[in-house]
Amino acid sequence: MAASSSRVDDTNNNIPTYEYIDINTKTFHVGAFESLWKEQLKPNYYSLQDTPQATEDEEFAKEMGIPSETIEELKVICSPDSLRCHPENEPPDMNVVPADPGLLTLRLRKRRQDYKETLHRDFTCRQDLYATELESLAMGRRPLDPADLVPEGEIILTFRIHYPLIFERFKYVRPYQTLQVLGSQKLTELRDAICCVSDLQVSGEFSNTPDIAPDFISKDHYKSAFFYLEGIFYNDMRYPDCRELSETIIEWAKSRDFPTFQTEKMEETTFRELKIKIGYPYLYCHQGDCEHVVIITDIRLAHQDDCLDRKLYPLLTYKHRVVTRKCAVCHLYISRWITTNDSFAPTDPCLFCDQCFRMLHYDSFGNKQGDFLAYPFVDAGAFN
Ligand SMILES: [Zn+2]
Ligand SMILES: [Zn+2]
Repeated sequence: MAASSSRVDDTNNNIPTYEYIDINTKTFHVGAFESLWKEQLKPNYYSLQDTPQATEDEEFAKEMGIPSETIEELKVICSPDSLRCHPENEPPDMNVVPADPGLLTLRLRKRRQDYKETLHRDFTCRQDLYATELESLAMGRRPLDPADLVPEGEIILTFRIHYPLIFERFKYVRPYQTLQVLGSQKLTELRDAICCVSDLQVSGEFSNTPDIAPDFISKDHYKSAFFYLEGIFYNDMRYPDCRELSETIIEWAKSRDFPTFQTEKMEETTFRELKIKIGYPYLYCHQGDCEHVVIITDIRLAHQDDCLDRKLYPLLTYKHRVVTRKCAVCHLYISRWITTNDSFAPTDPCLFCDQCFRMLHYDSFGNKQGDFLAYPFVDAGAFN
């Protein structure tokens, strides 16, 4: 493709510089940027092998110009084992912060502790518990099979996916998912990793046949999608029933004197082949009109502390958690059905979990009772 051969004219074009300060960079070629790094760095800088401690100490001593005995001494003095704020024979209690701490970190911790004590919650908030978990889970993780090790000098791009504009509820919560991808991965791999409830929607009224409703997931019916990056539409054309969603837009643009847009296949393009701007809003569109703003926030070479199991990429590092909407009857389970014109329901429309919905609207033989319309409901918190 055009982008892959563009590492030609002026390589300096591929060193990202700001187009708008602190906002986004100018366009550059991902693969060329990767090669530039590798030309500049010594291979051991981006090597994923562990350097033996002795070699590391030796190099450090040489760099600092100090004898190796001093290194040994420093190691003992600076070791975390020598840090102590309690008697040696007593186990430390990590949660006790002294009443008037001098350290800023301790003061912040104390403030947080005091604040937490003022909160009254009658539920366990898993959100707090796992907020930072995702990212740290995969840190420095190595694969069981050495063949799955991320290649040395592999480029990692961070994508931030935003909520689609059609969700009124999330108008003010934009970032939604953060994913890391490898330069060698296909765009379709990122597409498959983006979870959006629009893909799970079931369209239709199923009050007479509630059992067949789950077979109608939108993702299986409408498989088309595209990314729009730097004037090129990357269409997902993996399946025979995929359509070029971008076609209408291109036709529309042609009739209005816009420059001609190009199209490429999503499944044939790797991230390394792309020309992109960091920090610039791009588009991911699926299900016809579910449009997500997508921003590349970071690009760098893989480091020892990254997740090194390539099978885990695209790697989810952040996920916005949503308060789920509970069933109107039991207030316990997540809603699966929404009914209208329903004489049994307290409100119109009304949400039900699967069990309450069936118990209230059908007899023991599965016959529909009364008049109502029922639509399958997928909660935005389904991916929590
Ligand atoms: Zn969507
Ligand atoms: Zn219920």
